[in-house]
Amino acid sequence: MITIRKNDPEVGIIGMGQTGCSVARFFDARGVAYVAFDEFLKTLPEDIRGVLRSGPLKAKVLSKFKRIIVSPGIAWHHPALVAIRENDVQLLGDLDIFREHFSGDLLAVTGTNGKSTVVHLMGQLLEVLSGGVDIGGNIGIPMLDMLGKSDVSPRTVLELSSFQLERCQYIHPRWAALLNVQPDHVDMHADMHAYEAAKLRLFARQGDGDTAMLPCEGGRDALAADLQQRGVRVRRFGKVTDAQQVDAGVLGGSGQEIFWTADDGLHQVAINQVMVRGEHQHINLAIAAQAAADFGVSSVVIRELLTAFRGLDHRLRYVGNCAGKPWYDDSKATNPDAAIAALNSFEHVIWVCGGLTKGVDLMPMLPTVRKRVAQAFIIGTNVQPFTALLEKSGIPYRVVTHMQDAVVQAAEVNMQLPVLLSPAAASMDQFTNYAERGRSFTQVVATLEKAA
Ligand code: ADP
Repeated sequence: MITIRKNDPEVGIIGMGQTGCSVARFFDARGVAYVAFDEFLKTLPEDIRGVLRSGPLKAKVLSKFKRIIVSPGIAWHHPALVAIRENDVQLLGDLDIFREHFSGDLLAVTGTNGKSTVVHLMGQLLEVLSGGVDIGGNIGIPMLDMLGKSDVSPRTVLELSSFQLERCQYIHPRWAALLNVQPDHVDMHADMHAYEAAKLRLFARQGDGDTAMLPCEGGRDALAADLQQRGVRVRRFGKVTDAQQVDAGVLGGSGQEIFWTADDGLHQVAINQVMVRGEHQHINLAIAAQAAADFGVSSVVIRELLTAFRGLDHRLRYVGNCAGKPWYDDSKATNPDAAIAALNSFEHVIWVCGGLTKGVDLMPMLPTVRKRVAQAFIIGTNVQPFTALLEKSGIPYRVVTHMQDAVVQAAEVNMQLPVLLSPAAASMDQFTNYAERGRSFTQVVATLEKAA
């Protein structure tokens, strides 16, 4: 149990980025004294009252604090944190502070890919309920800023990353979904096991009356059985040929429906009525629909909103037609699994890939690349893993480095195929973030389109 006492001088905040600053503002507003630590920052933003200690984190200094809120950007295995873990210092995440101060219904979504899409759509669906909904966490406004609003909703949907979950001790969502666990951030977590363990913390405190939404594949049966024993309602989702097999998902075969389960049985919407593309995205729609149904949103409303949902920018978004080809921006695909899902949403494509691979092996992409890619263009500074993959695939490719060249040369390819930017890697070698990379792609496409 965390108690925040007035004038308590024994609270620390590590990492004064967006999250750390939101924690500081939250404490300022409640008269809680704290010391802010940041290895690089020299001054705090003007509206923050706390004291800043700049420079390397030292275990000796940190061990004097009673509790320390560690921002998600600080490596959990930072030597100074490892050194004080055995002491009496409580190391927490901002999620723990949120949990202490939010008494409404908490819904939470984690997974490697699809979180933002599911959380946004859940936000649109749950908004129709009395009092609406707030969404936040890893997207939008930091969760503690949400609590500072004058009109806090009776329910909140949080998108939670492994970094947020691994340092959080008390999370207890009433409704929680694990979308998938796929290789990503290998450079930041000790290994895949640590990455997965962080995500599974989401369910650690769930019990009677709570709901857990788990994939039907990926070896989640033991977790499902354990949760059921604790009185949790376990829902499963996935792609199936018989809708009785799971609660929500995509019905393959001739039907091609997205479905979910309400109190009065199964509800569905035909895939050809929704605007987003790709089986992975259709499953994301089903997950959000299931959340809404579990909180009492009518299936008529769910169907209406599912068919109106255009998807989020930079997630397999159609951005225009030029040189006789449709162009798709999937810049948010920063790991191989996201790019595999995007490639599998087409028969054949001209593929724009490349960027920072974050230590993730690209070779598992080989069968999909062979099956779906007609020609590839590699951008970014870390080209070797991509040339190795494409050499092995036997698919023609060119290293172009810059987005402008990738788009111009893809337009010149003499094949009427979709052009897909789905980099399978992070963007920070050449762009501020994935959104800037996606915008750069779209802008060059728009310029070519105008010039045509
Ligand atoms: P996140 O917030 O988890 O990064 P997004 O909704 O922003 O998720 O999507 C990130 C990328 O992952 C996009 O390229 C999207 O098309 C892709 N994606 C979404 N769902 C899945 C899935 N189930 N498997 C693989 N890739 C997915």
